[in-house]
Amino acid sequence: MGIAPIGILGGTFDPIHNGHLRLAQEALEQCRMQQVRFIPSGTPPHRARPIASAEARLDMVRTALHSHHEFSVDVREVYRTDPCYSVDTLTSLRAEFGDEQPLCLLLGSDAFLNLHTWHEWQRVFELTHIVVIQRPGRPLGNAMETANEELKEAYRARLAPAPRRLHESASGAIVALDMPLLDISATDIRRRCAENKNIRYLTTDAVTHYIYSKQIYTPC
Ligand code: ATP
Repeated sequence: MGIAPIGILGGTFDPIHNGHLRLAQEALEQCRMQQVRFIPSGTPPHRARPIASAEARLDMVRTALHSHHEFSVDVREVYRTDPCYSVDTLTSLRAEFGDEQPLCLLLGSDAFLNLHTWHEWQRVFELTHIVVIQRPGRPLGNAMETANEELKEAYRARLAPAPRRLHESASGAIVALDMPLLDISATDIRRRCAENKNIRYLTTDAVTHYIYSKQIYTPC
């Protein structure tokens, strides 16, 4: 049944948390992926900078993924200090994995609805499939009714009925996955740390320990 896809999850991971890990696990299972690569973003000077350093964010991702052999960390963006477009990262992943390997960019529905604002967004479909995560009871189809016209057109043309489609070609399809999302955000974890509140069970024990021991988000 074709080649098992590789999932791609980009983010600041400031810090990585159980919402990210659960998202990756659901995508892995529902789409029968061979692996999910976590790609921590760089720190371009003109965007809102992450609180933790690139090294600390990378350490936390590595720590969280330690015992999951289907999850890996990809360092191609994290040390970059120039603006880094998704299309460039995807081009470099495509060069690394070759023309046959299905790649799947994992995106929340909010990010997907803004896809038309990305640099060279139409090229994204030449490089990867897109797996959109929709919350149960909030189908992407409804939100698409008021979306940008060009995005709507791409969605209509590319929407696949089932994840099986992701195994049949290297790029170009859109699949919407239903996923119960955990109500966890990195912002909330940072806020709790700043207020000296406990963050146990929002991220892994090892990441919790790392944050506490290095006092990453504790006010000075
Ligand atoms: P912040 O609160 O700092 O904005 P975040 O928690 O949203 O961070 P990011 O590193 O920006 O984390 O997210 C990376 C990716 O993971 C994004 O596509 C985001 O939509 C997704 N994501 C974040 N939180 C969750 C969650 N609780 N469940 C599923 N996906 C999530």
